[in-house]
Amino acid sequence: MTDAPRVRFAPSPTGYLHVGGARTALFNWLYARGQGGTFVLRIEDTDRQRSSDEMTQAILDGMQWLGLEWDEGPYHQADGFDRHRADAERLLERGLAYRCFCTPEELQAKRDAAGDEYRYDRKCVALSPADVQRRLNDAERFTVRFLVPEGETEWDDAVHGRTSFQNSAIDDFIVLRSDATPIYNLAVVSDDIDMRITHVIRGDDHLSNTPRQILLYRALDAEVPIFAHLPMILGPDGKRLSKRHGATAVGEYAERGILPTALANFLALLGWNPGDDQEIMLIPELIARFSLERVNKKSAIFDPDKLDWMNAQHVIRMSGAELLPIIAPALIAEGLTTEQEVQDREGWFHSLMELLKPRAHGLGGFADQARAYLAPAVEYESAGVAKHWKDPAATAAGLQEVGRLLATVEPWEAEALEAALRKHAERSGVAFGKIVHPLRLALTGSTVSPGIHEVLAHMGPQLVHQRLRAAVAVLTEQKGAEMNIDTYPPTT
Ligand code: GLU
Repeated sequence: MTDAPRVRFAPSPTGYLHVGGARTALFNWLYARGQGGTFVLRIEDTDRQRSSDEMTQAILDGMQWLGLEWDEGPYHQADGFDRHRADAERLLERGLAYRCFCTPEELQAKRDAAGDEYRYDRKCVALSPADVQRRLNDAERFTVRFLVPEGETEWDDAVHGRTSFQNSAIDDFIVLRSDATPIYNLAVVSDDIDMRITHVIRGDDHLSNTPRQILLYRALDAEVPIFAHLPMILGPDGKRLSKRHGATAVGEYAERGILPTALANFLALLGWNPGDDQEIMLIPELIARFSLERVNKKSAIFDPDKLDWMNAQHVIRMSGAELLPIIAPALIAEGLTTEQEVQDREGWFHSLMELLKPRAHGLGGFADQARAYLAPAVEYESAGVAKHWKDPAATAAGLQEVGRLLATVEPWEAEALEAALRKHAERSGVAFGKIVHPLRLALTGSTVSPGIHEVLAHMGPQLVHQRLRAAVAVLTEQKGAEMNIDTYPPTT
């Protein structure tokens, strides 16, 4: 076996790229990237009825969105039909497979009679070469069955360790159907040999196929690759992950505002761990730390709340410049800004993203918070009004006083603004919070925001005074239009 591994992701295009498939693709990709290997993409489209180009495209899109770029392919399994047939022919020539002329009706009757105990009775092994030739001359339909040898089939699974199956439990399985199309086990082995795959990393739902495939490798004189069977993914209720548990297609996570790096991080921990408590990892770290040795045998639980938490953590780790192109479309769609304004005030928008990200809890929480910094007016949260604006006249007076004070602060920067507010609290003998809470409500309409000095700094003096005037107007039951703006903020 060569040093650099060759791995493959081999989805059947009968559905979207779902969580399980994406996890398999990711583990193969991480392994290839970490080992300087090659990641091959093969679309297993031999089931023509159930496969579609649309699904193939959806799988490619999902992989690209996740950043799992492949080095070779996409190959299409159906393009290998001639080779699959040639391999079946080789097995026949070597006496390792045989033609079976039993009709589907005949087999069904035997199956019905035997129930769970059914095994193909090898009736056609006994056919003489002359018999076979006569039936071929009569154009009788036949399948090709693999002649399972006696004994045991064992392998060292990179995840499960030594694994063995009694061959007596394996039926003489069909490798070529009567229409000369290959059965999955033959097509996969033939392709993996042809593509020089060294490591087969896939879901453990394929464990029971593995002994059949190993027998085929041997029968075709090929080196058996290393198998690594990944644990099953269960929903929070302990049942196999399915549509019932909500979104399972990767595209749905993209639509829900999940970052590809967050989903990759989350998927990586479904069945693998780095050996310590570290949970948040970006792609380069995942590549550096991933190993097959640390893949668990035990099933993994898909916890959607954890994905949301992880997404928020990834958002926090992004810079304002990285976030802005993702968030700006939502701000524009909400009518809070325009493309032009975003361009003109790019630096300001970058720092706004930085300011808002800790409280955004993902990508969905920016627009609501951004309203305070962009909308002409804000709505006041009623619980906040009841709590912090109990005495409207006194609050209005207090806000006006703060407004007058702020008008004197230079430079308009977070530090100077905070110092001024603290000094003001000290001088007037009022608790700092008693100044900050009503002010925050006036500025943002909300009881939650970043530190008040940062809010002030980002809003800039013009918007701050506009918000204060509006709040005072509401508190004194005057309308904004009737306010004498010359008296507020005053010049002294
Ligand atoms: N096409 C198979 C599937 O989608 C995978 C085959 C394999 O990985 O060996 O389940």
